[in-house]
Amino acid sequence: MATPRTIAIDGPAGAGKSTIGALVAERLGYLFLDTGAMYRAVALAALRRGLDPDDGEGLGVLAREVRIAIGPPTVRDGRAYTVLLDGDDVTWAIRSAEVDLVVSQVARIPAVRDAMVAQQRTLAGRGRVVMVGRDIGTVVLPGADRKIFLTASAAERARRRGEELAARGEVRPRQELLREILRRDRLDSERVMSPLRPAQDAIVVQTDGSTVGQALEQVLQVVRKTEAEQRT
Ligand code: C5P
Repeated sequence: MATPRTIAIDGPAGAGKSTIGALVAERLGYLFLDTGAMYRAVALAALRRGLDPDDGEGLGVLAREVRIAIGPPTVRDGRAYTVLLDGDDVTWAIRSAEVDLVVSQVARIPAVRDAMVAQQRTLAGRGRVVMVGRDIGTVVLPGADRKIFLTASAAERARRRGEELAARGEVRPRQELLREILRRDRLDSERVMSPLRPAQDAIVVQTDGSTVGQALEQVLQVVRKTEAEQRT
């Protein structure tokens, strides 16, 4: 198999999965799906309806009801893709501090995950897809042709997140961002269903000290290297 059909990129919050995943997809001419945006959209819908992030039953119903569509950017404002929640453009709303705070609680509800994973598998069924998240290589697409676990130290991830927010005119103390990242790491890694961890056959890519261009090259090298290994 010279060309991968499916590429799974997992890793903790702020590791650069979305940026790198989108660039890899662009290079290969593949569809890019950021599954974190789907969980964020459900979390936003829950906030808007005043649902308790611990109300598993209510959140399950909500996740099955809402229509989430992720597609190419419809506005040229720096977005990598457009997210619609029941037809409403929520691309930036799902990046708010309020959503950051509840998304991992919402994402640990099994019924929410079941609803999202079903949609993700349908999208991947067509092939030629780069999917990024926490459980893509382990649960969503265990048979993915390439599995990459992209990671960086928490301090580096908090620094990058600060820069990303500053670029959008939002200033938040570095310590607060670090606390938030560590909290999400803990919730995502310790949950019972589909915890964050590298798949056994994933290749870990550490991006501390790498620029976006360097991290992209590291990931592309893994894609190529695996091809070479498979030919021998
Ligand atoms: O990737 P991002 O940080 O936008 O994801 C937001 C949250 O969604 C994560 O902290 C995690 O709780 C959840 N998530 C998940 N499984 C995925 C992708 C994201 O549980 N595949």
